[in-house]
Amino acid sequence: MMTGIEYRGGILAVDGVPLPRIADAFGTPTYVYSTEAMVSAYRGFASAFADRDNLICYALKANSNLAVISTLAAEGAGADAVSIGEIRRALAAGVEPKKIVFAGVGKTAEEMAAALEIGILQFNVESLSELKMLSEVATALGHTAEIAVRVNPDVDAKTHAKITTGKKGNKFGIDLDQAASVYALAKSLPGIKATAIGMHIGSQILDPTPFEEALRRLVTLTRELRDAGHDIQRLDCGGGLGIPYKGETPVSVESYAQLVKRATDGSGCKLIFEPGRYFVGNAGVLITKVVHVKDGSAHRFIILDSAMNDLVRPAMYDAWHTIVPVKEPAADAPIEPVEIVGPICESSDQFAKGRPMPPLQAGDLVAILSAGAYSRVMSSNYNTRPEPPEVLVKEGVFAMIKPRPAVTDLFANETLPEWLVDTGASPRPRVYGTR
Ligand SMILES: *Cc1c(COP(=O)(O)O)cnc(C)c1O
Repeated sequence: MMTGIEYRGGILAVDGVPLPRIADAFGTPTYVYSTEAMVSAYRGFASAFADRDNLICYALKANSNLAVISTLAAEGAGADAVSIGEIRRALAAGVEPKKIVFAGVGKTAEEMAAALEIGILQFNVESLSELKMLSEVATALGHTAEIAVRVNPDVDAKTHAKITTGKKGNKFGIDLDQAASVYALAKSLPGIKATAIGMHIGSQILDPTPFEEALRRLVTLTRELRDAGHDIQRLDCGGGLGIPYKGETPVSVESYAQLVKRATDGSGCKLIFEPGRYFVGNAGVLITKVVHVKDGSAHRFIILDSAMNDLVRPAMYDAWHTIVPVKEPAADAPIEPVEIVGPICESSDQFAKGRPMPPLQAGDLVAILSAGAYSRVMSSNYNTRPEPPEVLVKEGVFAMIKPRPAVTDLFANETLPEWLVDTGASPRPRVYGTR
């Protein structure tokens, strides 16, 4: 099925552990990650670039659990962080500061100061305003910030509108035709050293050709900048490599590497990469249980114990996730279209529409696949539903890496203002409920 995730003796298993064992131990819904899948994706990528000077900065926002970061850091990965919170996670997971790049359009002065004190590798700057603020913060602290200007190469990554980022007119990066003047300003500002150039053109990219055109534009700019006296040493190629969700043909990392090398060889730059989804997306599954089967007049609804608060991608991006019964269906099982939904009172709380599925009954376990990236990290406790726990599996052994909060934890830090507390003999409790 996918690396690390397969039926064994008719039961879906992750790295050799049958999922019912994990469901018995920790309940449902629960996220389960395959170490084998993450490590093999990482090693495939790393070996494709082993013959070039490079640094792979895993984009933490895809899945920032410390055990996940730590698994990749042990393979040599650095981190691409988009907040000071993610930088702190990277450090806690053992990533060296000089392997951290800091991206994002809205870095605050406080975040900049903290990142400078930590001594990260580079800031990927996205606006003039940010550049000036960074110069002021760095100067005040007596530090020098190494930067890449994130350039918007104006290519169409041909992906979902909500995750395309490299076209003119979106909020990311600095337009190519303004880049030279931004570097000129960077050179004149104290506390700033522009040593790199960067891009990130979008996510879930399945046709790699836009990468090549975008990189060629960056390499041309690199030459112009060097001619103008800038010491450009690194080319940050961003992330965005797509994965199969529905049996799509994945981009082969070898062909991606070939086109990157074609476009950048001769630039004299060290290459930085920021893949997120590619390393973890297909390493995760969400185990969930069928709570009810409801036959409406038009549709059969399979109502799960997981919902859009646990996994929001279908509701937010119309994303497709393959959903399979944990118990392998018979080869001749009848297949019927069903609506697969969660219990939340929103019509968008739906995982699949008209999805052909084998028969399912209340109590059956199903697995939502490709749930390793942009899944648990985006979950919330909407409807006062605890976020699902996370479990990591390696070679037949599994470990809880983030437990499910107790329901009472979800409101334990909520307090009543004075005017809602009785002043009489028996004040109302500040926190309701007990475990
Ligand atoms: C989100 C993001 C990434 C990672 O994207 P993937 O599609 O998960 O590879 C890399 N770099 C930047 C700047 C990002 O915002």
